[in-house]
Amino acid sequence: MQPALTPSLSPASQPSPRPLPEGEGDKAEKDLTESGQTLSPNRPIVIIGSGLAGYTVLREFRKRDQATPVTLICADDGHFYSKPNLSNALAAGKGAEQLVNTPREKMASDLKAEILANTRVTAIDTVGKKVRRGDGETGYSKLVLALGADAIPHGLTGPGSEKVFAVNDLQDYATFRAALKPGGKVAILGGGLIGSEFANDLAASGHKVEVVHLGPWPLERLIPEQVGRALADALAEKGVAWHFGRTAKAIEPVGEGIGLTLDDGSRVEADIVLSAIGLRSRTQLAASAGLQVNRGIVVDKTLQASAADVYAAGDCAEVGGQVLPYVLPLMQQARALAATLAGETTEVRYPVMPVVVKTPALPLAVLPPAPGAEGGWQVECFDDGICALHLDNGRLLQGFALAGRQATQRAQYAAKVGQAVSQARTPAPQA
Ligand SMILES: Cc1cc2nc3c(=O)[nH]c(=O)nc-3n(C[C@H](O)[C@H](O)[C@H](O)COP(=O)(O)OP(=O)(O)OC[C@H]3O[C@@H](n4cnc5c(N)ncnc54)[C@H](O)[C@@H]3O)c2cc1C
Repeated sequence: MQPALTPSLSPASQPSPRPLPEGEGDKAEKDLTESGQTLSPNRPIVIIGSGLAGYTVLREFRKRDQATPVTLICADDGHFYSKPNLSNALAAGKGAEQLVNTPREKMASDLKAEILANTRVTAIDTVGKKVRRGDGETGYSKLVLALGADAIPHGLTGPGSEKVFAVNDLQDYATFRAALKPGGKVAILGGGLIGSEFANDLAASGHKVEVVHLGPWPLERLIPEQVGRALADALAEKGVAWHFGRTAKAIEPVGEGIGLTLDDGSRVEADIVLSAIGLRSRTQLAASAGLQVNRGIVVDKTLQASAADVYAAGDCAEVGGQVLPYVLPLMQQARALAATLAGETTEVRYPVMPVVVKTPALPLAVLPPAPGAEGGWQVECFDDGICALHLDNGRLLQGFALAGRQATQRAQYAAKVGQAVSQARTPAPQA
């Protein structure tokens, strides 16, 4: 996974809510009235998205309200799975179908919801309070956007580019896994969290791996150099080759595989390429509905967007100015939003939320300091790992990067955030 969603290319906008284009809404309303569909006075809460954000909002809402109708609409098949498993499933020998935790039909019956799967929402009318989908429209009482994020385009075009993959959902994973050759070679673009996790998983499942990474060490936006170098070395011991400070400029077919030309003219050959250069919030649907978007869909701490009764959560949401594309923040958002939807307006509050990086070659637990935080890293190496603490100028703990067995100490360090460092530094017990 990536450390943070990179800023969307579109500038912040301040548009106002707007109805569907003139005539279309009326026509749709008429069509729906004739077919007796969903514009009844008792409109459902509509959730768009069946990822962890959409389903967690629904699950948390049902803990509070069993009666209000809910319709969940999603462009994918709606089966429930945990996305973080996508980057450690190869070594476990798991196909996409084995990553499904709960089939859609069971989600629908357990959570008493109508689920419209394989259905893309193409427009939102925040005035008429309805969404347009492929085959009609659905009216809503309240709307939750849980749209996730898109992989950033890799920019490689022409022959050979059909062998560049990105893994951001179950279907992507199935496609990528089918393209892998046993014992074959994969070039990974990007050595952030997702790239490093896949490098570990591919190497552990018998593949040769080369990573092309623009930064000077992996995860350089999250961890200090000593920890990054230790991760690179641990993965190199598993057979991963690194190209730091480089990007891929061109691709071409070579035999049955591809050749990448890097920006210094050097070459990497592989069977296929995995692009892991980052994600960006899906904002387009909201922007074209006149909702305010910036790096994500702009919402306040109650997850309320810039139109009445519209909310956003998860990777698509910019909550109080922050996009936090991880599981723990979206869980907190979902709980707060469920309370609000059930009538108890609630602001999201985040506890300290370290990120666990799934690189068994060198396990990591990371709490990055806030962007622009003062102070610096203080790094200490133990026999069983590395403990890097980010301290402010008053020597108070702001963040940490724990490697190896030190990573098991993450809860203890999380509890010390904001406190003096002397209280925080405790070597991990020996294995
Ligand atoms: C490989 C990988 C590994 C990760 N590992 C970790 C980890 O270890 N720890 C961690 O904290 N985080 C991890 N993350 C991040 C975490 O998985 C995400 O933050 C989280 O899953 C996002 O959930 P979401 O529901 O917001 O988005 P998604 O799961 O992307 O769901 C978006 C949903 O919206 C639907 N949708 C979008 N547009 C439309 C439309 N127009 N109409 C209808 N439906 C639409 C999609 O079909 C989908 O159902 C990882 C991410 C990846 C990619």
